[in-house]
Amino acid sequence: MNRTKAFSAASASARLAPFSLDRRAPKPADVQIEILFCGVCHSDIHQARDEWHNTIFPCVPGHEIVGRVSAVGNGVTKFKVGDLVGVGCLVDSCRTCPNCQRGEEQLCDNGFTLTYNSEDKHLGGVTYGGYSERVIVDESFVLRIPGNLDPAAVAPLLCAGITTYSPLRQWDVQAGQKVGIVGLGGLGHMGLKFAHALGTRAVLFTTSPGKADDARRLGADEVVVSKNAAEMKAHAGSFDFILDCVSADHDINAYLELLKPDGVLVLVGAPEKPLPVSAFSLLMRRRRLAGSLIGGIAETQEMLDFCGEHGIASDIELIPIQQINEAYDRVLKSDVKYRFVIDMASLK
Ligand code: NAP
Ligand code: ZN
Ligand code: ZN
Repeated sequence: MNRTKAFSAASASARLAPFSLDRRAPKPADVQIEILFCGVCHSDIHQARDEWHNTIFPCVPGHEIVGRVSAVGNGVTKFKVGDLVGVGCLVDSCRTCPNCQRGEEQLCDNGFTLTYNSEDKHLGGVTYGGYSERVIVDESFVLRIPGNLDPAAVAPLLCAGITTYSPLRQWDVQAGQKVGIVGLGGLGHMGLKFAHALGTRAVLFTTSPGKADDARRLGADEVVVSKNAAEMKAHAGSFDFILDCVSADHDINAYLELLKPDGVLVLVGAPEKPLPVSAFSLLMRRRRLAGSLIGGIAETQEMLDFCGEHGIASDIELIPIQQINEAYDRVLKSDVKYRFVIDMASLK
């Protein structure tokens, strides 16, 4: 056993606090990773506060992990001690269903293992995430990190990056298309960077007028303050694709109305409450509404390599783990530029 320091939530209403847990000793296919940085995803907050009604406590969040390999099992072929590596939302899946076989582990028919809050198939109990000193992960779920990027700013790519890259690729978004990104938070700012890198005409929708200049710097060709009905109406029926990255209750009909015929709105935001959809928002102009969950391991590696080639990483605010509760409070106020990342050296 491998005693590991961490921060956990003891209950849905508890502030995160120091905790310690046992990691398994590395098995033949395992990579042991000393965590350097871990991003703070809004999903961590939903989960720590049991907003999706499935959290097992104590909960150690964190699924945007960058670290250095400190040991490998004797069957590991892809990584060696000293490598800089990443771990995202998944640490295992059934590996045999058709979806796993074609490298879409996030669609596993038999249940994937999430980095935290899943059944721990090795030790029993629950998996614990990246707000911790180290993690042990099967090499099939470990990612290579491009050497030219700041490792702290890479951490958010492991969830916010793949979650926004995947739908843009899966729906084959092309240069020149008009693409909307809704919400300039962790996911939204990565979506904007990717939409810009793909050569689309990128429009950022925000409830925070003060983010407009940043949005342009991050790649927006235009910024729309979504509370302004006239600004919204000016874009009616004009979008090929909209990526909705909003974490809370909001009116998705207002965005469906902006799609042109056969246009697609993909939800990646995961608010606690259901979002009502007007049939007419979809019937008119044969519009489509879809969802997307992170991405598979192969696509995550493709996204990381794309980021290396294009010099793309996250805009981050680096914090010691002792400030995690204040960071959660600020994320809930849409006050983060644009992802908190924990410097795990603060846990030592
Ligand atoms: P975040 O950093 O908090 O960003 C969310 C943004 O949504 C905010 O910055 C804000 O942008 C906007 N917003 C917040 N409250 C709003 C409201 N009441 N009405 C309208 N807009 C509002 O969160 P995140 O980490 O990017 O995560 C976003 C959502 O995606 C979360 O629900 C998370 O759980 C989910 N998620 C899903 C996946 C997946 O695989 N599908 C993966 C990761 C995360 P403005 O200030 O610009 O309006
Ligand atoms: Zn996440
Ligand atoms: Zn499977």
